[in-house]
Amino acid sequence: MENRLPSRFNPVEFARNSEAVRLVLPVSHFKRFSALLSDDSGEVAARARFYIGTDKVPIAEGSLSGLVNVVCQRCMKPMVIDINCDFVLAFVSAEDQAETLPEDVDPVLMDEHNEISAIDFLEDELILQLPLSTLHVDESQCDAPAAVTVKENQQAEPAKTHKPFSELGKLLKH
Ligand SMILES: [Zn+2]
Repeated sequence: MENRLPSRFNPVEFARNSEAVRLVLPVSHFKRFSALLSDDSGEVAARARFYIGTDKVPIAEGSLSGLVNVVCQRCMKPMVIDINCDFVLAFVSAEDQAETLPEDVDPVLMDEHNEISAIDFLEDELILQLPLSTLHVDESQCDAPAAVTVKENQQAEPAKTHKPFSELGKLLKH
């Protein structure tokens, strides 16, 4: 049985009841995450299954997916990153509790009422999915936004380093 996740919830209760949730949230709701993107359009879809893990720690195991827009740091043009990951999160009430967790489990700190917001719960995980430097995988994509303009770009690109060629490029266009 899958439920929608309320905006704030108690993961301890969710784990005790073996809840499974799925949610779709606009990227714009993740303020810290969207600040790293070129715009905040799009949505993030998440699924999670809650259970009580070892040492009675509440765990959420699930997956995240979504397409987000970033800027290529080589050509400064927009590019899309496909986020698709699995996660295992442990809900802790104190920072030092996080230190005892296995390496593949990420801690999420609950507030004093053992609650967490749906946003906080996923935001760190989303941020971890962004590459340290966002670059087009294929360098030729930086030069060629569309196949039709490839030729023009090849003439225009060397202009920064080789002045004579830029002049030649202009001549050829006329
Ligand atoms: Zn690029």
